[in-house]
Amino acid sequence: MPRAPAVIGDLVESAMGRPAHLLDAGEPAPGFLELDMHAEPPPGGWHPGHEIQIRATPTQGRRYTVRTVGVTDPQRIGILVATEAEGPGTTWMRRLRVGSRTTVLAGRHRPLREHGTRLLYLGDGCALGTLDACAQGGDAPIVAVEVPADAVEPLADRWPRYRFLPAAEAPGDALQSWLERAVGNDELGNLDGAVLLGHAQSIQRQRRVLTDSLNLPRRAITTRPYWATGRAGL
Ligand SMILES: Cc1cc2nc3c(=O)[nH]c(=O)nc-3n(C[C@H](O)[C@H](O)[C@H](O)COP(=O)(O)OP(=O)(O)OC[C@H]3O[C@@H](n4cnc5c(N)ncnc54)[C@H](O)[C@@H]3O)c2cc1C
Repeated sequence: MPRAPAVIGDLVESAMGRPAHLLDAGEPAPGFLELDMHAEPPPGGWHPGHEIQIRATPTQGRRYTVRTVGVTDPQRIGILVATEAEGPGTTWMRRLRVGSRTTVLAGRHRPLREHGTRLLYLGDGCALGTLDACAQGGDAPIVAVEVPADAVEPLADRWPRYRFLPAAEAPGDALQSWLERAVGNDELGNLDGAVLLGHAQSIQRQRRVLTDSLNLPRRAITTRPYWATGRAGL
């Protein structure tokens, strides 16, 4: 529901709304917000990778992802937000203050379909929370994330197993160069699956490299666009 009449938004909220309040907020790197919330769980409970929505305005929804779920408190969820977009979703997130009461929308968790066991995960900053949630269970997956240049160091300190690439001028260019180089150097030869998240147009280019140069079948590649050049909300 990126954009819907307010009356439809009200109906969705009455069916899927979960009362929540902000427990803690931090800035792990420039351009990122980390939010810790207490939120009533949907049927089946919260899971890392759980998709949620917020009503950024009465007529506009935006999607985000649960990165962590509390071990001792299953109603405590963590969300990592990239703040580059500067649309109503980002404004909504930035406005939250510790103690703020709000509503998040969520249904039963439907995990991303992943294929294979030796996986490559690619995405940009807004996908880092999801990539981290998904890559937890994998068998030493390769994770590469394109982020603003000044966020590379703090994020690499926090997640030393992931490769953080400083974004170039156009979205996806840094990731594309890294991918082409890694394929050329035969660093990705034994992959049998990939998860590509984030910028829609970049995902298409990445998939082409994986199918054409690594001969990965399309069904082994999971894609999920999170935003697109020229579009507000997805
Ligand atoms: C299933 C799903 C899960 C998601 N999970 C997360 C998450 O956990 N954390 C997170 O931070 N984001 C997540 N996103 C992405 C987030 O919903 C978008 O970035 C959203 O568009 C931001 O909303 P906005 O209102 O601020 O900007 P919009 O109004 O949507 O867009 C305003 C402008 O910014 C551009 N834009 C949008 N997003 C980005 C971006 N990320 N980087 C640069 N430019 C952008 C648009 O093209 C547009 O020009 C998820 C998206 C989906 C579909």
